[in-house]
Amino acid sequence: MPVTVPEYDLVIIGGGINGAGIARDAALRGLRVILLEKKDFGSGTTSWSSRLIHGGLRYLEYAEIPLVYESLHERGYLRKIASHLVKRIRINIPIYDRSKRGLMLIRLGMIAYDLLSIRKTLPRHRMLNRDELLQLEPGINADGLRGGAQYYDAQVTFAERLVMENIISAAESGAVVKNHSPVETIGRHDGRAMTVSYFDADTAESQLVRGRLVINAAGPWVDRVLRKTGRKHRRLMGGTKGSHIIVGKFDGAPREAFYVEAAVDGRPFFIIPWNGQYLIGTTDIRYSGDPGVVRASKAEIRYLLNETNHVFPEARLLPADVHYAYAGVRPLPRHTKGPEAAITRRHIIKRHKRALRGIISIIGGKLTTYRNLAEQTIDRVIKKFDAGLVPCSTSSAPLPGAIGIDEAREKLENFSGLSDIGRERILGIYGGRAALILELTVSNAALSNVIGSEKSVLAAEVVFAIRHEFAKNLTDLMHRRLMLGLSADQGEELAETVANIAASELVWDEPELQKQLDSLRRYNARLKPARE
Ligand SMILES: Cc1cc2nc3c(=O)[nH]c(=O)nc-3n(C[C@H](O)[C@H](O)[C@H](O)COP(=O)(O)OP(=O)(O)OC[C@H]3O[C@@H](n4cnc5c(N)ncnc54)[C@H](O)[C@@H]3O)c2cc1C
Repeated sequence: MPVTVPEYDLVIIGGGINGAGIARDAALRGLRVILLEKKDFGSGTTSWSSRLIHGGLRYLEYAEIPLVYESLHERGYLRKIASHLVKRIRINIPIYDRSKRGLMLIRLGMIAYDLLSIRKTLPRHRMLNRDELLQLEPGINADGLRGGAQYYDAQVTFAERLVMENIISAAESGAVVKNHSPVETIGRHDGRAMTVSYFDADTAESQLVRGRLVINAAGPWVDRVLRKTGRKHRRLMGGTKGSHIIVGKFDGAPREAFYVEAAVDGRPFFIIPWNGQYLIGTTDIRYSGDPGVVRASKAEIRYLLNETNHVFPEARLLPADVHYAYAGVRPLPRHTKGPEAAITRRHIIKRHKRALRGIISIIGGKLTTYRNLAEQTIDRVIKKFDAGLVPCSTSSAPLPGAIGIDEAREKLENFSGLSDIGRERILGIYGGRAALILELTVSNAALSNVIGSEKSVLAAEVVFAIRHEFAKNLTDLMHRRLMLGLSADQGEELAETVANIAASELVWDEPELQKQLDSLRRYNARLKPARE
């Protein structure tokens, strides 16, 4: 009997923030969508960012005014549609007599930033004199300090969850979403529809789908995905590597986020209170290798430690103080000349022609602007389809967790056993969807167990992630669902407990359970800084 090949309007390749955002927008507008992700949703570059939803103050230096304007507007939308995930953050810029960017320049930048975020809901910037800044943050290096600036942006502690909520929303609107399902080949059927083969994690077999268009949203893997057509093409991507280190509270640590100039090369970098720790980064180095194996180098870690110790002299941070470090490759358009920082962070929606007709590749972009990128992409698709479908609604339609937050908070308050930290943790990860987790505890008493020494994790979260959030293995659970993998101990305290709960849900036998634990250990080990 001939096998029927499922047909879609769009086959989206890549489940990072851009692929997930495009899938959501398309599904909400009534398109038939399948999204294929080779590993887990949000496990690529999106996990390795600075996690800021920001206008990008730095881009003003390169006169990227439209990008800053777009980003500041998107920041406003994301604070509304993902209010449980995207929170405001105050950032301080210290200015020294040796700073490359002096008081005057910073003040001008601040005014421009405020003007570009017209109609914004965040307070305006404030300039501080030396004493004010020292009073606010006594740990800061006072040598040559002239004053500072204070401004507001937004932070998404768990960018992975922003991806997940877009995926969930897409699926709720009818999209088929598949993680651990790498695309293997891209071809054309009858000279018209596109044919995509992929390895299906659910059936453990190669499968075929057809789409009117293929959207290549594979981030830094865009060129590698194009190679799956077997056709020659011009290289599009020219990524740069950026690394971060994560440390605990240190002597003289700031209470608020800092954006500082590195003493050694004048590059600005962030020191951000994040997830009960400090996220410090980033670097910016041209990179053309495999984005899947990129690691923070010893030199980058030293650089970030030295520069932090310079701004906060009591810190005296050493490599041994680093909880873990991560690196990602920015999916930027190819530019072989000029400094890395000057490569545009704007996105390009490239519609291929001739041999690659039927494919749209997404080049560049930021976490911050994913929603607009998705809207623009689907607007173009709709024009091509001439379908007269519904207009885009993602600037106002809340993501699933942004609905019912107060009700979920009330239910959590009435749930015994959880600590206050636990309630905040659960709301900060799932928002209003926390109520659905509590429902699981009603039918199964074992799932109402509160696990971990902080009494902050519910056993039901594990089952919820498997049943309702597409988690397929222990690393998915720890790093991109319950978010325990990003704690100081990389989730070590709870890994076995989570694995045991998952084992009964997914019917893992003992060897499989051990395999899952080994795989998580290897994943975590990759994030441990290389020994000096
Ligand atoms: C160091 C650093 C700091 C950053 N900081 C910020 C910041 O603070 N704010 C901000 O707005 N932006 C920031 N960015 C930029 C932002 O993180 C990225 O632009 C964004 O995450 C890119 O998302 P993406 O979906 O395009 O790519 P990815 O997240 O990389 O997603 C692409 C996906 O495609 C999948 N894939 C690849 N090949 C295949 C295949 N054959 N089949 C199926 N799937 C495949 C991959 O597994 C991956 O999950 C930063 C980036 C870096 C590197």
